[in-house]
Order: sequence, then structure tokens, then C-alpha cells
Amino acid sequence: MTGYIMSRLLVPHNPTLLSKCILFRNECKQVHYSCKILVVGGGTAGCSMASKLSRKLNDPKQIIVLEPSDVHYYQPLFTLVGGGISSYASSRRYMKEVLPKKAKWLKASVIGFQPDVNKVSTHQGDTIEYDIMIVALGLQLSWDKIPGLLDSIHDPDAQVCSIYGPDTVPQVYQKIKNTGRGTAVFTFPNTPVKCPGAPQKIAYIAEDYFRKRKLRNNIDVVYNTALPVIFGVKKYADSLWGVCKQRDITVNLQTNLVKIDPSKKQATFEKLNSPGETLVQEYSLLHVTPPMGPPAILKEHPALTNEAGFLSVDPKTLRHTKYPNIFGIGDCTNTPNSKTMAAIAAQGKVLYQNILDDLDNKPMMMAYDGYASCPLVTGYGKCILAEFDYNLQPKETFPVDQGKEFYAMFLLKKYLFPFIYWDLMLRGYWNGPEFFRKFTKFLKKDHKN
Ligand SMILES: Cc1cc2nc3c(=O)[nH]c(=O)nc-3n(C[C@H](O)[C@H](O)[C@H](O)COP(=O)(O)OP(=O)(O)OC[C@H]3O[C@@H](n4cnc5c(N)ncnc54)[C@H](O)[C@@H]3O)c2cc1C
Repeated sequence: MTGYIMSRLLVPHNPTLLSKCILFRNECKQVHYSCKILVVGGGTAGCSMASKLSRKLNDPKQIIVLEPSDVHYYQPLFTLVGGGISSYASSRRYMKEVLPKKAKWLKASVIGFQPDVNKVSTHQGDTIEYDIMIVALGLQLSWDKIPGLLDSIHDPDAQVCSIYGPDTVPQVYQKIKNTGRGTAVFTFPNTPVKCPGAPQKIAYIAEDYFRKRKLRNNIDVVYNTALPVIFGVKKYADSLWGVCKQRDITVNLQTNLVKIDPSKKQATFEKLNSPGETLVQEYSLLHVTPPMGPPAILKEHPALTNEAGFLSVDPKTLRHTKYPNIFGIGDCTNTPNSKTMAAIAAQGKVLYQNILDDLDNKPMMMAYDGYASCPLVTGYGKCILAEFDYNLQPKETFPVDQGKEFYAMFLLKKYLFPFIYWDLMLRGYWNGPEFFRKFTKFLKKDHKN
């Protein structure tokens, strides 16, 4: 600030010189950091990895977390917030409360990667040099890709809502409550999404809400998904088809939302299995899962990504396919698992050990098997706990048939998982339920999964 005032006083009438002075002042303010491990993104994956590694290295100068946001969200709770089951406040905490104290937090966005010289630059003009970089940038939501969505999603009078945005989820329950008749339409886009179960979970919860309020006879419930299946794992897909049939929920596969006309309350879908064919549906409630993709900043650095823009890593070791000192974790990578927090817990264990081995110049021995789980909440007090691996084979923890709806699984989702997230996972202590599975497998009849 002083530099700026001085420059204004000294050269008030010479804009070129003035801008040079300001540039010089900014250059002087730029900071060059260096660290052993740089974690880019302080969400679920970045925060939990920074916690694990900073506890091990025990030196705040060794680990830097680059994260621009002040607030950290427990996104899996958004589904319950949308259904009026949990409070919005319980899904958020200040970033400074969750990031590990033994790491340095730089509150900035990465705007450039220079992997050949082990450097990144931030939007503030600073540069950070690293020995090892962990990329954990998550997914980017593209609300603007659906014409009419941005106009309606923030309008309290439009019956368009989404549990996917931190700023849109607080309105979802009210919009469900506003629905008295007509058709409630729920969508799944033609892109990878985080938690592929969530778009239908909110449909089941809303349907249950209408049923409990004795409104069900006035409201049709429709789930339109761009996917060719209701769920990727056959065992759980069979159960979910059963739920939909029993509760009269219409499911349209390969039906992709392309346009919304909020003034007419009409949504237009393309039929992916019949090119050129469209379906126009009137809605009294429209729940949209927006198109998603890798963050723009990754797409701008094709040396780091696959063709779609996801960070290119080995699906087992999570090491970058080209740069051995870069690793990836979470939603931004190209690993073909279901993009969930549960997957990150399992990835975190592998990545932590592989990085430590790498630092010790040992071969990396641990491999991620694609484990992911999805608590498919099917109503107020019901949940199917899906757990599976890269091969889409069930990998269940409990000695029951997890393809069935259980109240106990709902309680886990509502009470236990938030505790695990805030108090264990973000502190680097949770590696998923693999440890428990070793014991529970002896209680299972077939001793498999
Ligand atoms: C509605 C909903 C329901 C879900 N339900 C479940 C569930 O039931 N079970 C489950 O396991 N998972 C669930 N998930 C998925 C889970 O929340 C995500 O998979 C997980 O949070 C992804 O973690 P991440 O670290 O990869 O990305 P994020 O947690 O999104 O973190 C990415 C971070 O990168 C930061 N960032 C972005 N750009 C930059 C930049 N340029 N520079 C630096 N930092 C940047 C962001 O600020 C953010 O903090 C759900 C998600 C949603 C939205």
C-alpha cells in the first residue's frame, strides 16, 4: 500500500511509469516458497493427505497446502441436507479449523504448473518449488452448460434445485416442501460425477417425503439418467430397480438434460440411444445434477492429463504416468473408480505409504484396488450400503446382505460417517473399513466379499 501511494505521489501524470512502478511493487511482493511436499487442493483428499504426511514429517516448513477457500464442506452430507435430515451448518467448517497445524496453508489458487522444473505459480504471483507434489483439485461443476440452469437455480421462486452446489443445497428442502402436485424430475448428466448415487438418493428421499405428507398420488416422480444403467454394480442395481418398481418411480435411462425453460417449467432431454430424439417434460420440481469435469486449470496443462483433462496417474500406485514426483488423489484423477470420499480414504492409505517408500528410495509396494462405497439412502430411515472395487464387484464390510435396505445403515450415514470424516479422516486417521472387513469376513456365510 505504501509503495502504491508513493508511486502515485511521485509520478501522478505518467501512466506508463506509474504502471511500471506498480508492477515493480508487485514483483517485490512476490514470494518464492519451497517445500518437500506440496498439496494442491485442501478438500477431502488434500486435507487428509496433508494431515497424514505432516504428522509423519513433523515440520510445518516441509508441507505446503495450496487452497483458496475459507470453508471446507463435508459434501456427502449435502444429500441429507437436501432432504431436511441434517443441518447445512453441520456440513461446513472453516478451512483453518480442519487443515493440519503442522503444514503451512497458502490461501491461494494454483494458476500454473511447471512440472519440468518442479514449480507451480499462484494467482497472487507467488511460486512454490516442491520435491513431491500431490494434486487433489476435485471436480469442477459446470452450471452454465445447461441453458436456463443459472437463471433458475438461485431463484427462490423457480422450482429448480441441486444438492451439488455448496450455495444451492440450502434451498433444496424448501423447494421439495413447496411441491404439492405435478411431476418431480431428477437428473443425472452425461459426464463423470462425484458420488454417482447421490442424484437418485435425493429422488428417493423426496419421494418418501411426498408419501409421508400424503401427496404421492398428486406427484409423479421421474429419474432421468444419461447412464445406460441405474447403478454400475449389478447387485445394487437390481435392488434399486426393485425400490423404483415398488415405489412407482419412473426411470428413464440414456436421457440427458440439455435445456431448461424456467418460464414454462419445462426441461428438455436428449435421448442418447436415439440420436435427434428429444423429450420435453413439464416439472413442478426439477432437481439437477450439473455436468462436471476436471478443473479448468488441469485442462490447461495437457502434459499432466489424459485426453479428458483428468490428472493422469497409475490406477494402482496413484503416481503420475509421466512425472514420478507427482501424485494424484481424489476426484481429479483418471482412476476409473466411483468418485467418492470413501474411495479417497482407501486411496489415502496407499498414497501415504507409496510416498514414504519413494522418499526412502524404496519401490512402491502398495496398490489401490478401486474400493469405493456409496450409502444409497432410499428414504427417511432406509439405506443400501454399496461397497465395491474397480471390477464393480461387491466388497462388503458387514456380515449381512448389503443389497437390502437397512435402518442401521441409515444411522451410519447420518451419525457415524460425519464423525469419521471430521474427527478421523481429515486428521489423517481413517483408511476406510478394510481393517474391520478382516474380522467381519469370518462372520459371513460365504467368507467372500
Ligand atoms: C451431493 C454429494 C453427495 C456425496 N455423497 C457421498 C457419499 O455419500 N459418500 C462418499 O464417499 N462421497 C460422497 N460424495 C463425494 C465426495 O464428497 C467427493 O468425492 C470428495 O469430497 C472429493 O474430494 P476431493 O478432495 O477430490 O475434491 P474436493 O473435496 O472437492 O476438494 C477440491 C479442493 O480443491 C480446491 N481447489 C479448486 N481449485 C483450486 C485451485 N486452482 N488451486 C488450489 N485449490 C483449488 C477447492 O477449493 C477444494 O477445496 C458426495 C458429493 C456430493 C457433492
